[in-house]
Amino acid sequence: MNHVVLTGDRPTGPLHLGHYFGTLANRVALQDVHPMYVLVADYQVITDRDLPGAIQGNITSLLLDYLAIGLDPAKVTIFQHSAIPELNQLLLPFLSLVSVAELGRNPTVKDEIAHSSQQAVNGLMFTYPVHQAADILFCKGTLVPVGRDQLPHVEMTRLVARRFNERYGPVFPVPEAMMGAQPLLKGLDGGKMSKSRGNSVALSATEDETAALIRGARTDAERLITFDETNRPEVSNLLTLAGLCLGRRPESIADEIGNGGAAALKRLVTEAVNEFLRPIRKRRGEYSEADARQVLSDGNERARERAIVTLGEVRAAMGF
Ligand code: ATP
Ligand code: MG
Repeated sequence: MNHVVLTGDRPTGPLHLGHYFGTLANRVALQDVHPMYVLVADYQVITDRDLPGAIQGNITSLLLDYLAIGLDPAKVTIFQHSAIPELNQLLLPFLSLVSVAELGRNPTVKDEIAHSSQQAVNGLMFTYPVHQAADILFCKGTLVPVGRDQLPHVEMTRLVARRFNERYGPVFPVPEAMMGAQPLLKGLDGGKMSKSRGNSVALSATEDETAALIRGARTDAERLITFDETNRPEVSNLLTLAGLCLGRRPESIADEIGNGGAAALKRLVTEAVNEFLRPIRKRRGEYSEADARQVLSDGNERARERAIVTLGEVRAAMGF
């Protein structure tokens, strides 16, 4: 099947291991097979925070993370919302295709509101999944490599595509989500590993920072290490992390540690993570901020050409 791949990230902080095993590893594999667009979702930052002064720094850092994991800008179009007005204009007709009740039912939006530090929930928080439909459909994306939290948004995109096609004629494909090896990696506090929740191991952290983060992870007092996600979620989460980095089953790592307790577990996890991230961290240092800016400006140009064509088709289908 000939897919067009679309996915992206909010420039709210450094990419972490949750991203890697949830979506980044799939992107690196897919870039050799299909055309791919990767979005720096800058307009999505303002769903749950004021636009921080640090936005440009976060964007550059995100681009360096992309280059570090091996995304190749010759194969992948990397672009940002704020540079593509025609993409954003799709939001208008798309919003007319969904009901307020449907927007209110989205479980990921509810979870994000529960974790938000904002006093009041703004309108974009409820409507950004429709904006994501514009992100996916502007390039007629058909495959969306994402973590589990994004599934309701891909479902929303499928709804928008189908309803648009029914109402105005066939313009859009109906895309599918693709989940990674670990669709929901937990953080060092047991909740979803997230940039915004202070519980993540950043791809770009130093080895010492990584060791300190893992040392601070929650565990339990039992010396015998076992993989039991129901009764020992914290210990099991660390075993999962080590297993992903080592390409091994968590149960076999638990057997190897045996009676070593939390200290031995944390030592093993730290080594596994640092070893796994070493080549990624090394490659990050090989690119400059100027390289990153160039990648984005080239990608913005290509993405904008694509968006102009799609908006033209949408306007024609709607009779404008
Ligand atoms: P924020 O806290 O600012 O929302 P985030 O860590 O949730 O940041 P996003 O930019 O919202 O990161 O998500 C980017 C992509 O990474 C999405 O496809 C999302 O599903 C995936 N992802 C994020 N966190 C995880 C995780 N813990 N496990 C698996 N995939 C994840
Ligand atoms: Mg998120």
